[in-house]
Amino acid sequence: MYARAGEYTRAVVDLYEYQGKELFRRYGIPVSEGRLATTPEQARAAATELGGPVVVKAQVLTGGRGKAGGIKLAASPEEAEARAREILGLDIRGHVVRRLWIERASEIAKEYYLSIAFDRGEKKPLLMLTTEGGVDIEEVAETKPEALSRLHVDVLEGFQPYQGRRLVYGAGIEDVSEQKQVLAILGKLYEAFVGCDAMLCEINPLIVTPEGEVKALDSKFTVDDNSLYKHPEIAEMRDLSAADPQEALARERGVTYVKLDGEVGILGNGAGLVMSTLDVIALAGGRPANFCDLGGGGDAEGVVSALEVITGDPQVRSIFFNIFGGITRCDEVARGILAALERMPIDHPIVVRLDGTNAEEGRRILAEAAPENLHVEPTMLEAARKAVALAA
Ligand code: GDP
Ligand code: MN
Repeated sequence: MYARAGEYTRAVVDLYEYQGKELFRRYGIPVSEGRLATTPEQARAAATELGGPVVVKAQVLTGGRGKAGGIKLAASPEEAEARAREILGLDIRGHVVRRLWIERASEIAKEYYLSIAFDRGEKKPLLMLTTEGGVDIEEVAETKPEALSRLHVDVLEGFQPYQGRRLVYGAGIEDVSEQKQVLAILGKLYEAFVGCDAMLCEINPLIVTPEGEVKALDSKFTVDDNSLYKHPEIAEMRDLSAADPQEALARERGVTYVKLDGEVGILGNGAGLVMSTLDVIALAGGRPANFCDLGGGGDAEGVVSALEVITGDPQVRSIFFNIFGGITRCDEVARGILAALERMPIDHPIVVRLDGTNAEEGRRILAEAAPENLHVEPTMLEAARKAVALAA
């Protein structure tokens, strides 16, 4: 139940398969040649250019596309066009397909799995390799844990060749040529992971063709968004239209906002206070719908932006303002709230808890001028109970 700030504020950018593969290509990891298409006609043209059989792949920010019918082989440009017509517009677990990756089809002899994920518990990148690829890795971890070769890398030492050999032998890859290729790919994937400030680089499946060539057939690439200032070309890859509309609005307004799935919208000042507020809402028997962190400020401008974002979420039934006045004084925040409500009237019940510097004056200001749907409560717990009751 207790919220950890890092878990909510963890912000990453998920890249599409074709973007991850573009990064793979830059780091020298073998991938198939392909083209992006957004219409069936473009898919046909891409297949003509590539020549031979192709695979038409839905580009959505979710896995399991194959099972959902989002990945189809096509023997000719005509077939590629037909498959593209079927896949475009498909809803894959809530993600509508708007882009396709048309790739030269590969023949598959074996499917392996390779990933590097940042392990927060160990504070180290975790490398995983198994010859049981192509399927859900969680399933392998559960049913056949001995098949999964795992190893942490010390970030200061970096990835060492002996670690690669340990992984490859541990996974039971016996063919010498395969061993060499996987070792080379491991080193390059680690370079890509560090070079791009990734949180996850996953290749599932990493295939072996009948000719014995090892290459990445899929890509799941996730980048830490705090590092985007260093990587303008990755920042540009981010698809803002695929994001939650509230999150997009929040980003535009410069509001820290996180979507959750309960009923109480939360607005607080400071990450620590906001995290405690989530817990107190849970303690009162409710569930947070989302939260906004006003940071140090409480001026009308900031409050309006946060309210706009919070109330745009249709799941919100009540709003809990939890403010602790430190440097920002409660009377200023109270005036900010009133000014904001004047500019942007709200129908939802609002519960305000004000404490800290000039709390009494802040509460008095609200009590005198607040609209009927605004309730002022003296403590955090009472306010949480009220907000939960009003959301029912
Ligand atoms: P995911 O389902 O979202 O993980 O998408 P993948 O890119 O991993 O593709 C799913 C499956 O489709 C793979 O595991 C392969 O079995 C199959 N597949 C993808 N590309 C090709 C290809 O070029 N040739 C063949 N024969 N199968 C492919
Ligand atoms: Mn896959």
